[in-house]
Amino acid sequence: MPLDPDRLPLSEDPDPRLRKRCAAIDVFDDRLAALAARMLELMRRADGIGLAAPQLGVLSRLFVCNATGEPDDDCVFVNPKISPSGETEIAEEGCLSIPEVKVNVARSRLCRIEALDLTGHPIRLDGADLVARCWQHEYDHLEGRLITDRMSETDRIANRKALKALEAEYGRSR
Ligand code: ZN
Ligand code: ZN
Repeated sequence: MPLDPDRLPLSEDPDPRLRKRCAAIDVFDDRLAALAARMLELMRRADGIGLAAPQLGVLSRLFVCNATGEPDDDCVFVNPKISPSGETEIAEEGCLSIPEVKVNVARSRLCRIEALDLTGHPIRLDGADLVARCWQHEYDHLEGRLITDRMSETDRIANRKALKALEAEYGRSR
């Protein structure tokens, strides 16, 4: 990972890097730890509950989350696999890469996650509700999927202006 994690801006839709399937991580070094720390910091500063590496333009299978805001609840997941289960619930989600856009997304209420930590050791956790939703949202990022892919026609119409503005902004930034 030849990137300086202190100089990574957040990618915004329609940045094509948000649409790539991310690659597995096989080096567990200081650079990976620094990237995860930077992601947690950016997530906190943006009042988010999760952030995935591709949102920083790093196409690696890594995401962080913290559904409570308490420092003890910081989680880092490398090469995660998720197993959603239970009933499906619809709730509104936002995404730090798609500002101003809110989408009603159906997710499983329960989720198991199996991943590696920053030292390469396996972690297995079970989550429910907001935590389970966050894992499913962040996992989608590693597959190049965004909440706009899960939008109903009603949400598409409601968010049309915001999405157009993002497109125009991305065009200008290039
Ligand atoms: Zn977590
Ligand atoms: Zn997101």
